[in-house]
Amino acid sequence: MLNLTDIQPQADEIYLDNNATTPVLPQAADAAIHTMNLCYGNPSSSHMTGLKAKYILESTRTLARQVIGANSGEIIFTSGATEGIQTSIISALNASRNKTSTVANPVLLYGATEHKAVPETLKHWNAMLNINAEVVAIPVDERGILDHEFITRHAHRALMICTMVANNETGVFQDLGKLEQVIRDSNPDVLWMVDCVQGLGKIDLDIANTTIDYAPFSGHKLYGPKGIGMLYVRENAPYTPIIAGGGQESGLRSGTENLPGIASLNAIFKLLVDDNDDTFKSHEVLCGYRQQLATTLNKAFPNIVYNHDFSCSLPTTLNFSVKGLASKDIMDLFDAARIRVSSGSACSSKVTGSFVLDAMGKPKWQSEGAIRLSFGPAQTQEEIDRACGAIESAVVAMQHHCLLMTDADGESDANVDGLQQWVYGNQVTWCYVDQSSRQILLIDPIAELSDRFQTLVNCRNFTVVGVLNTHLHQQQLAEDENDCSLMLRTVMNDAMQESNVDALGWPNTEISIQLENGQQVSAVKIGDRVIAKLDLPGHTENSRAYLLGNAVDGVLRKDAIDYVFAGDLIQIGGIGRSDLHGSLPETLYDSIRLLAQVTLPDTLLCPAHDYQQLFSTTLSLEAKSNPLLRKILENQLSKQEFVFEKAQLDKTIQQSEDEPLCGLIVQQNKALIDVYPDQLQKFLADNADIQVIDVREPHEFEAHRREYLDEQKIVNLPLTRITDFIHRFTGEKAQTKFICICRSGSRSGAAANALKRMDFEHVYHVPGGFALVN
Ligand code: PLP
Repeated sequence: MLNLTDIQPQADEIYLDNNATTPVLPQAADAAIHTMNLCYGNPSSSHMTGLKAKYILESTRTLARQVIGANSGEIIFTSGATEGIQTSIISALNASRNKTSTVANPVLLYGATEHKAVPETLKHWNAMLNINAEVVAIPVDERGILDHEFITRHAHRALMICTMVANNETGVFQDLGKLEQVIRDSNPDVLWMVDCVQGLGKIDLDIANTTIDYAPFSGHKLYGPKGIGMLYVRENAPYTPIIAGGGQESGLRSGTENLPGIASLNAIFKLLVDDNDDTFKSHEVLCGYRQQLATTLNKAFPNIVYNHDFSCSLPTTLNFSVKGLASKDIMDLFDAARIRVSSGSACSSKVTGSFVLDAMGKPKWQSEGAIRLSFGPAQTQEEIDRACGAIESAVVAMQHHCLLMTDADGESDANVDGLQQWVYGNQVTWCYVDQSSRQILLIDPIAELSDRFQTLVNCRNFTVVGVLNTHLHQQQLAEDENDCSLMLRTVMNDAMQESNVDALGWPNTEISIQLENGQQVSAVKIGDRVIAKLDLPGHTENSRAYLLGNAVDGVLRKDAIDYVFAGDLIQIGGIGRSDLHGSLPETLYDSIRLLAQVTLPDTLLCPAHDYQQLFSTTLSLEAKSNPLLRKILENQLSKQEFVFEKAQLDKTIQQSEDEPLCGLIVQQNKALIDVYPDQLQKFLADNADIQVIDVREPHEFEAHRREYLDEQKIVNLPLTRITDFIHRFTGEKAQTKFICICRSGSRSGAAANALKRMDFEHVYHVPGGFALVN
């Protein structure tokens, strides 16, 4: 295990994720350490050591009152804002228990863009305390401003209203004065909580001069440590302690106080109230920083859009999307370039948008592609200059690798040659490039990735040979999606107009080649290879496969096939479903047998879905884990038996959101050999012949200045090209040792797992990745 002291920030790290948490100010850290070392007393003890601790506690409370303008009411120290929210909501709901009989159709109102802690807590305690109110989101407009009209209509039956001073994703703030008027005009007595987390130190709060009943705050959003926060409670507002015990905090919150945390707040508050201290910058200075960052971002990403209106947002947050780039692309690039920002979305199996941006009615691509860059009010000009410089240099890597349009020279062309797998959720698009002829082919295009394809084509001046579908996808049918392959074909190449291609994009072609079973099929040339069309109906009535390989004398032999794009016919871990509209189960049986006749058991099959990050498969691998397939391939199953068994199987495929639409999942597990970050240096020294594979994307590889690993033989084999890698290195499965690494260990784990599954013998992986190795 690594020693704690070995875990350090990267040198020159540029931290722009202050809305998630801030670094701890040195003065705050010193205050906490001083308190731990020397003022360790319990504030409840009456001896002098305890009294010193008590002084720190109470003087911090006094400072807190000054900072938020709370000359009346209570200030209670908590573990953070989530506890403050909990306490406020329980207090309000507990007090409204008797009101539920007098208020008809009671509601609990909260802003639609509130931090999840608010609606989740409302729902939880509404159920736990049997309040049975309706929990209702107050809509926001396209700028994120609460719908005052809506509040006016519903506030009379509200038991509680929860709003926020500024949003954590967008920085959008509400006009509290106006909001108060709207609320109080409709319901003078309703209990009102305002989540002040993102406003502390950035917005002047004169809280006791408002009718806010509860206001939670959090220390770690303003340069304090995690685990300390505070809650303001208006004088006479109902209050229920959620932690009972020794009676600390005047009985309002029991448990020995977190004195080191409180001492750090003390240090921060002192800086905030000191007019002669410039640690915390003025609003004008912060607006200047934002402008400087926005100017840099606008230059770096010509297609940028901001997801909020600067005129009603805190200057410290910039939330943007870039047309054609996934948030993960930007986030990964920035992270490799040591710039820390956050993206609201994207996990490997499901693409999710931001509920905040959705509530603001932003288009899907903006919501899914959003990046949040947030700095803090104690940021310095020098840090902002460095951030802008780092952004400028990071995007060059994106231009080199054609994620952004540029007039760059072609020096990284090599990284584009061959097969790439692009993923959107669990859907897969395969992109094949023949570098020497500058030709490109796209199979099973996904609408969301079309910008990326267009940028690549235009950036490299490629000729598009085909934009092909293996079948009409369920998503396309279900969503009535604008036909993205038609769109792509039209944009790319006049010769590919709709009239010249069939429904799945196959062009009129004179070329015919023979497969190894003697069958003649139509083909298209790409470089020195051909792509051949083989009809394999079954999953749908027009399903087909495309076979890419090297035809010699008009024959595409089994052993000359590089890849088969088989759509949903053969999935990783299952056979495509045959119970969909247009499915032909009997024909599916014939199609599988035909596929087996014209390919080898080890030919790489590239499916249209990847539910488990295994990338590609082969018939022999599938037969090992799939008895139904094995029986077909071994002639042990009649067509009728197959149809019966397949129907049973299809029934078991559940239709939940996370489940596959088009196939069956079987878990694959092969034990990986882990080399933990603390063992890595020695492991590399002991295994001089090992090939270190960085599986991040080329733009990340380029943007990342590695430290000691630079001296090793490190090559970039991005995860998107792992199938290409498997194909090229298949002859080295037994002898070469490979160790995979990435940022966190997630992608390298997937790569190593896929290689192992394809029988690469010596595969290692670094859990924790560069985050722990630097
Ligand atoms: N409210 C807002 C607006 C926040 O940004 C956060 C933290 O992300 C919270 C509440 C929860 O704060 P804590 O981490 O202190 O529990």
